[in-house]
Amino acid sequence: MRPQRFHGGLRLAGHKAESSADGLRPCPPPARLRVPLLQHAGRAAEACVAVGERVRRGQCIGRAEGEYSADVHAPCAGRIQAIESGESPAFPGQRVVEVWIDVEGDGVTTLPPLDWTLASPETLRERIREAGIVGLGGAGFPTAEKLSACRERLVLNGAECEPWIACDDALLRAHADEVVLGGRLLARATGAARVQLAVEDSMTAALEACRAALAGHGAGEVELAVVPTIYPEGGERQLIQALTGREVPRGGLPRDLGVIVQNVATARAAWRAVTLGETLTERIVTVTGPGVANPGNYVVPLGTTVSHLVEQAGGYTPDAARLLLGGPMMGLALPHDDVPVGKTHNCVLVQTAAEVAAETLEPEMPCIRCGDCAPVCPARLLPQQLLWQVRAERPERAADQGLFDCIECGCCDLACPSHIPLTAHFRHAKGEQRARAAETARALAARERHESRQQRLEREAAERVERDAARRRNAASPDAVAAALERARAKRAAPGEPGAGA
Ligand code: SF4
Ligand code: SF4
Repeated sequence: MRPQRFHGGLRLAGHKAESSADGLRPCPPPARLRVPLLQHAGRAAEACVAVGERVRRGQCIGRAEGEYSADVHAPCAGRIQAIESGESPAFPGQRVVEVWIDVEGDGVTTLPPLDWTLASPETLRERIREAGIVGLGGAGFPTAEKLSACRERLVLNGAECEPWIACDDALLRAHADEVVLGGRLLARATGAARVQLAVEDSMTAALEACRAALAGHGAGEVELAVVPTIYPEGGERQLIQALTGREVPRGGLPRDLGVIVQNVATARAAWRAVTLGETLTERIVTVTGPGVANPGNYVVPLGTTVSHLVEQAGGYTPDAARLLLGGPMMGLALPHDDVPVGKTHNCVLVQTAAEVAAETLEPEMPCIRCGDCAPVCPARLLPQQLLWQVRAERPERAADQGLFDCIECGCCDLACPSHIPLTAHFRHAKGEQRARAAETARALAARERHESRQQRLEREAAERVERDAARRRNAASPDAVAAALERARAKRAAPGEPGAGA
C-alpha cells in the first residue's frame, strides 16, 4: 500500500534519538501521588474513596460520571491522604479534584483475566471501560465509547510525528507484540474487518520490532503501513487521509468514513486489561530536551509530579528555561513543575534560555499577505483570513471559516515570515468561544430552572384558589348548612356546655 499525501504539513528535524539511547526506564513512585480525577475528555470521575482509607494498586478510586467519563484507579498501594480540588495548569481554566495517596505497602487488585479470542465484543468493551482506558495519544477520549459502533477499518496510530516525543517509538521497540495483539483484540471489540498499524518511515528500530511482532502474532490480520515522516502525520484526520485517500469532512468524524483510530499504547493497554486484568495506572512519558540532564522514556505511575519525573532524568541543566507538557509544536507551557502526570501526557520537554531567546529574537511584524501560511495548513484553512476575523472579534465568521477545524498544529506559525503567533490567536479565540458557549448554556439552564419554578408556583397558586373555592361552595350548600346546624345543636346539648340541660 502506498500512502497518500495529506494536505500541508512540514518536514521537521527529528529529535527522538535524544531520549532513545536505552530502552524503557522505570520511574519509581514518589512518596505521594496526586491522582487527578479528570485525565480524559468528558466529565471528571467522582471520588469513591475516603480520606484515611487504604487502597491497593489497581483499585478504583474515582467512578466515571456518566457516558463520557472514565474510571480512575490507584497507581500504587497506599493510604488516601487528602481529596483536594484546585486549578490545574494541565487543564487550563478548570478546577480538578485530585486524590492524594501516600505510597505504602504493595497490595495489588486486578480484574479476572479473560480469553479475548472467546470473549464477546460487548464483554471486551465492558472490560476496557472497567479498566479506565482512554486514548493515550493525547486526546483522552474514553476508548469503550469510541469502540461502541462497528467500523470497517481500525488504524493503530504509531505515527508519532512531534519531533521530540518518542514514547510510542519506545513502546513499539519494547512491546510491539502486545500492540499487535491489542490491535486484533480491538478489531474484535469493534467489528473492524481491516487493521493497519501505521508507523513513520524514520522509526526504523520500531518498524523492525513491528515486522517481527506481526510475523509472530499478527495472524495475517494486521497490516503494517509505513507512512512518510511529515508533521502532523499522526493527527487522526491526516493519518486517515494518508491511509484511505479520503478526507474526513469538515464538521464530520472519522466514523463517517467507517474508520476508527487508536493509539498504539491504547491497544496495548486494552490487551493487558483483558488478558491480565490490569487497570490503567501507568503510562510511558518522554522526558527530553536540552534543558534536562539525562533524557529518556519512563514508565510512570499516573499522579507522579513532573518535578519528580525530571529528577529521575537527572534534573534540570543550569540553562533550563521553559517547561512544556507535550512536544514543541502542540505542547502546553507549564508555569511550574508541581503538576501531576495524567493518562494523556506523553512528554515533558525542557527548553533552554537560548532556545527561548531564539524564538523571541524576531519581533512580530504586520501580516504582508504573502499567503505562505495556507499551503502548510493540514486542515485546508486560510490562517491569514482566520486571523483577520479573530482579531476583528467576529466569532461567527471565524467559526464559518473553520476556526474549530484548526488542530493547533503550529505549521502556520513556522511558515509565517512576519513571525505572527497565529496558533496562539486561534487557541485563545476557541477558548473564548467555548467559554461563552458554556456561559450561554449555564444562563439558559438557569432561565429554564427559573421558568419551571414560576410555572410550578403559578400551578400551586391556581390549585389553592380552586381548593378554597370548592371549600366555599361546599360550605354554602344546603347539606353543609344542615350539618353545621346539627354540629351547633350537638355542642349545646353536650354536658358542661353553657345552656346544656338548663
Ligand atoms: S495551527 Fe490551525 S490554522 Fe495553523 S496550520 Fe495548523 S491547523 Fe492550520
Ligand atoms: S504567512 Fe504570515 S504574513 Fe504571510 S499571509 Fe500568513 S499571516 Fe500573513
